[in-house]
Amino acid sequence: MSNTTENTFQAIISHAKEYGFVFPSSEIYDGLSAVYDYGPNGSELKKNIRDYWWKSMTQLHDNIVGIDAAIFMHPTTWKASGHVDNFSDPMIDNKDSQKRYRVDHLIEAKADQLREAGDNAAADAIVAQMEQLLGADDFVGLKQLLTDNKIVCSVSGTANWTEIRQFNLMFSTQLGSVAEESDTIYLRPETAQGIFVNFLNVQKTARMKIPFGIAQTGKAFRNEIVARQFIFRMREFEQMEMQFFVRPGTQMEWYNFWKEERMKWHMSLGLPADKFRFHNHVKLAHYADAALDIEYEFPFGFKELEGIHSRTDFDLKSHQEFSKKKQQYFDNDIDETTGKPFGNYIPYVVETSIGLDRMFLLILCNGYEEETIAKEDGTTDSRTVLRIPAKIAPNKLAILPLVKKDGLPEIARQLMDDCKGSFKCFYEEKDAIGKRYRRQDAIGTPFCVTIDHQTKEDNMVTIRYRDSMKQERIALSEVKQLVLNAVS
Ligand code: ATP
Repeated sequence: MSNTTENTFQAIISHAKEYGFVFPSSEIYDGLSAVYDYGPNGSELKKNIRDYWWKSMTQLHDNIVGIDAAIFMHPTTWKASGHVDNFSDPMIDNKDSQKRYRVDHLIEAKADQLREAGDNAAADAIVAQMEQLLGADDFVGLKQLLTDNKIVCSVSGTANWTEIRQFNLMFSTQLGSVAEESDTIYLRPETAQGIFVNFLNVQKTARMKIPFGIAQTGKAFRNEIVARQFIFRMREFEQMEMQFFVRPGTQMEWYNFWKEERMKWHMSLGLPADKFRFHNHVKLAHYADAALDIEYEFPFGFKELEGIHSRTDFDLKSHQEFSKKKQQYFDNDIDETTGKPFGNYIPYVVETSIGLDRMFLLILCNGYEEETIAKEDGTTDSRTVLRIPAKIAPNKLAILPLVKKDGLPEIARQLMDDCKGSFKCFYEEKDAIGKRYRRQDAIGTPFCVTIDHQTKEDNMVTIRYRDSMKQERIALSEVKQLVLNAVS
């Protein structure tokens, strides 16, 4: 990261804390590494992103329904899903500093350094080599790659590495209070399995016909070794996942469909297309026959935001084997090639999986700007603004009586009562109006309305737009509809 982007990123983290978006967890005890709490504005923004996703999945697609499965699941779930045996990352320790690293992170950091120095070709080459070695589980080759590229520990500065080995990322705990009688269970590392084990419950009770999807949002837990970059990589985080069940053989068609559909969702928030890109996986997870990431250009480079995975019938088939319960679907549509129904089969699955916290970080990074404003008298001023898309902003409208007297607060309160059932409003009567505007800019409120003495005469108010800072007079009676048009 260059100094400017590093500074901007630090400024975003401070801003997030100062304005009640994100706090370090249990901060009075000096925090807990890679765990964060969301404050009043943060929890609103997070909820709005979640709702926007949920609505796009379950309301705008009539063949997708939602569920809310428990975090705890029967331990065999994680045997069947492959997580007990395969959910691990290659790690390496530095013998001098005792610090542990994920090998792919060390190599990616080296590639970032090379890119910053302008050597894109060398950066691409090292990433390509890494992917090929990871794909072949070639740990000796990976260690050689570290040596060849003189990759050292950032704490000790040495290349005194241990051998590379696998480290499972699942958290475990005990069910029940008596240790001897209890079973080890895991905190789910992904929400997807709650969907798979409920496949038939949902298909039957909601009377779904293939192709159809099941959506879910909820907490997931991973014992990430290298937890860095604020809420980008956390130990407790939230996922928004959708599993789309399809007829075997049609998975690539749906994979491409969801790739486009998910990108359209991001664009529907008015986010800049040039900050997004697709990254096709070379090393496929144990369950996938195709996979890609939607990456976003965070201040620390292009990084995974969302995964689109063609998971084949791996999960359902495996649950069928482990549970000894059939996970089949009877498809009575006619197969034109045989003239008979498609019949019984285990569906294939295309998954879209996005981290809610990563999406939140994207919104902060994309929206944050320290803007210099040229004033009419030739001087300059500055403001910090969060350009959060109006649809998901914590507050949609700030209602500001110019003064706390002369009947202005009453008019303001009336507007508040009229609007607050439809969208979230913020009321404030303290401080100079300029200062109040700046505070709303800093928390991303798209519209401010000021009620002044003139309002009493003509029922007109001043509306101020966050992004352009333009102000205009409109009828008090038009405010609600104007905001509704922008946020729905
Ligand atoms: P990464 O390579 O960054 O570790 P992953 O490939 O393991 O991510 P998936 O298993 O595909 O991630 O999970 C789906 C999504 O969940 C990711 O695209 C990401 O947005 C989110 N996610 C995964 N791990 C974390 C984490 N530790 N903190 C926050 N979000 C996460």
